[in-house]
Amino acid sequence: MSIPDSTATFPEYAPLPESALGPELNADGYYAGRVQDNLFWVTDGTYQSAFLATPDGVVLFDAPPTIGNNLRRAVDELTAAENLPNTVTHLVYSHHHADHAGASYLFGDVVRIGHAETRRLLQRDNDRARPAPEVTFEDSYTLEVGGSRVELAYHGPNHSPDNVYIHFPDHDTMMLIDVVNVGWVPIYNLNLSEDVPGYLDAPDRALEYSWTHYVGGHLGRLGTRDDVTLHQRYIADIVDSSHAALGSVDPTPYFARYGANAWAGVAGYLDAVTDAAAAPVIEKYTGVLGAADVPALTTTTTFSILQSIRLDLGGGSQVHP
Ligand SMILES: [Zn+2]
Repeated sequence: MSIPDSTATFPEYAPLPESALGPELNADGYYAGRVQDNLFWVTDGTYQSAFLATPDGVVLFDAPPTIGNNLRRAVDELTAAENLPNTVTHLVYSHHHADHAGASYLFGDVVRIGHAETRRLLQRDNDRARPAPEVTFEDSYTLEVGGSRVELAYHGPNHSPDNVYIHFPDHDTMMLIDVVNVGWVPIYNLNLSEDVPGYLDAPDRALEYSWTHYVGGHLGRLGTRDDVTLHQRYIADIVDSSHAALGSVDPTPYFARYGANAWAGVAGYLDAVTDAAAAPVIEKYTGVLGAADVPALTTTTTFSILQSIRLDLGGGSQVHP
């Protein structure tokens, strides 16, 4: 890792909106609190996990390595306060990604539950930190532990091929990871999403369920239905702006300038379309969503959406006469 010298300059960004921030972390670097009844959530300010505390044990939902051993501390702290056992008996994977599952091994020999594709991908990845789930499902799965119920459902690929909807009908809560970053824009490339149409559709699928509290998996606070619709407006504005830019930016000068270097022409054109599409969205959401003005974020997300408009939807492509 290189260390910037004293003359390095760092870009300035707009102050974060209040809505980007969650509760303060404790001295160990985490916050753990109640979502509703015996459903709890844990954050380190960047990642989130959740757990059900029941008379028969604890059901953990995701185990991000950045929270790591603080998950154990959070479970111990809150189960003690509730006079409930602190033994983790089940671990549910939202999806296979290591940044949400890489502390799974800390919980040893528990019942791991996940989508069949999560099992396949974890077997492929062969990472001892993320044991593959033994209990799998294709479409839906109801888990009941100690009188608490959770409904897992698969609605097709979105952020990842295996990302599932975790609904707590008795706790008025939806947990959907890596789709809506509550109070913030997506990280690079539309939250590094593999299926863009599936990702764009996912918030609507989530809103079809009944819930009040949203666990998005990232940053420092829980979400509401309004947070999900604000995210949808940001994305819809990028989609609209992308269509407009595809219709207005002329590719001819880029291909004329670079001649035989075809990829330079393509890159020049696509970068120009991306910048034209992202600029009004960055301006509109600065101060509304955290990090909207960090250029690489809105710009790479715009690039992902633009490429999906071109490649999935056939937008902006012309057939040779
Ligand atoms: Zn992920």
